[in-house]
Amino acid sequence: MKIAVIGTGYVGLVTGTCLAETGNEVICVDIDAAKVEKMRNGEVPIYEPHLDVLFERNINAKRLSFTTSLEEGLNHGEIIFLALPTPEDEDGSADLSYVLNVSEEIGKLIKEYKVIVDKSTVPVGTAEKVQQIIAKNAQCDFDVVSNPEFLREGFAVDDFLKPERIVIGSSSERATALMKKLYNPFVRSGNPIIIMDEKSAELTKYAANSFLATKITFMNEIANYCEKVGADVDMVRAGMGTDSRIGKRFLFPGIGYGGSCFPKDVKALQKAGKNEGYDFKILNSVIEINAAQKTVLLPKIESYFENNLKGKTIAVWGLAFKPETDDIREAPSIDLMEALLEKGATLQVFDPEAMPNIEKRFGDKLKYSKSMYDAVENADALLICTEWSIFRTPDFKKLKDSLSRQVIFDGRNLYNTTDIEAEGFSYFSIGRRDVK
Ligand code: NAD
Repeated sequence: MKIAVIGTGYVGLVTGTCLAETGNEVICVDIDAAKVEKMRNGEVPIYEPHLDVLFERNINAKRLSFTTSLEEGLNHGEIIFLALPTPEDEDGSADLSYVLNVSEEIGKLIKEYKVIVDKSTVPVGTAEKVQQIIAKNAQCDFDVVSNPEFLREGFAVDDFLKPERIVIGSSSERATALMKKLYNPFVRSGNPIIIMDEKSAELTKYAANSFLATKITFMNEIANYCEKVGADVDMVRAGMGTDSRIGKRFLFPGIGYGGSCFPKDVKALQKAGKNEGYDFKILNSVIEINAAQKTVLLPKIESYFENNLKGKTIAVWGLAFKPETDDIREAPSIDLMEALLEKGATLQVFDPEAMPNIEKRFGDKLKYSKSMYDAVENADALLICTEWSIFRTPDFKKLKDSLSRQVIFDGRNLYNTTDIEAEGFSYFSIGRRDVK
């Protein structure tokens, strides 16, 4: 099939590449000319595991190409995916300007039947808006489909190739049939393609992300309470998670959720509710708790250094909002580092993939280290913000020798408290006993 994908970020580029992998001819369109040039030269502009192999294979097979021309993309594709940003607007709602502006252009440019697929995360009613905007100018038939994306950064290729489910929101039989044909190769093991109306599809995505953010936040509250009463959140988690109604996943406490999706999606649903006179009380709390959780380690750090961080050097391991990505949007590391800098600390930082993005944001305010061990050299403490695998079993002897004070503040509970105590470290984590 002939496909166009508008927007080549984490969602668009993975979508385009994976659709090419099943034999479709895909043109990816992006407004960012430098990015398009890079991709034309065979360079993957984001870090996403396994994407490079598929990317190269499909470019070489001439099934995947790139352009800045929306018109070229529209002329080529029968199915047009919108994978455009929907960032948080000033009032917390989703900024739909990217989606609506491109829709306006689409209306002016299409000459024959197209299925316009909204893959961006958008509030209920957006498919209807897109439909109306395109219809203002379109001289031909078209359908608008809501097809929210559930991929996770860091696992995006796997998630796209083997989705647990595909949600299609459409009231058009013709468009639904085309979407099923396109997606059938991805659900051969029997995972469902769930067909529903556009509004339900749009809400499914917000409901899923808000639920997951709530699950994380609930565990963070339990962890904070564990510290008050001397319980161990690891034990509580194990005891809870074995209940199949609860499940083992997403029960790990830490320094809060971040990323390009959960924060903005929870806020967008909260705001969308408000617009309808509905107060999502649970989401109000999730947002408030998560904001505080990002700096929950700060009082422990301050107390350890007797409220004097001036002149102290802190090594920071992990800057991305989660492992296996270079994405730093709303990363808890940012809040913590800003607070520490404000208190006069010097920060020596390391992340396997996110250093360039962090450098763009912090400039010369941080010291950028070449390796995890360079970062701890002569530091007074180690702070862990992201659970990259390489941090899980470090050379503790080397770590001890490099740090001028043997203390670790761990926002991701990477180590067993008893083991780390035996290694001779002071250790402060989330929802577990402090090792002083
Ligand atoms: P992104 O910011 O990584 O990428 C967006 C891309 O769109 C950029 O390359 C940008 O240059 C391009 N763009 C902007 N305006 C354009 C225009 N007028 N024409 C062509 N290209 C244009 O965004 P993303 O993370 O891929 O997210 C896209 C959407 O998917 C959002 O709504 C997001 O909420 C949703 N989503 C994201 C994820 C995720 O994990 N990142 C997962 C599921 C859903």
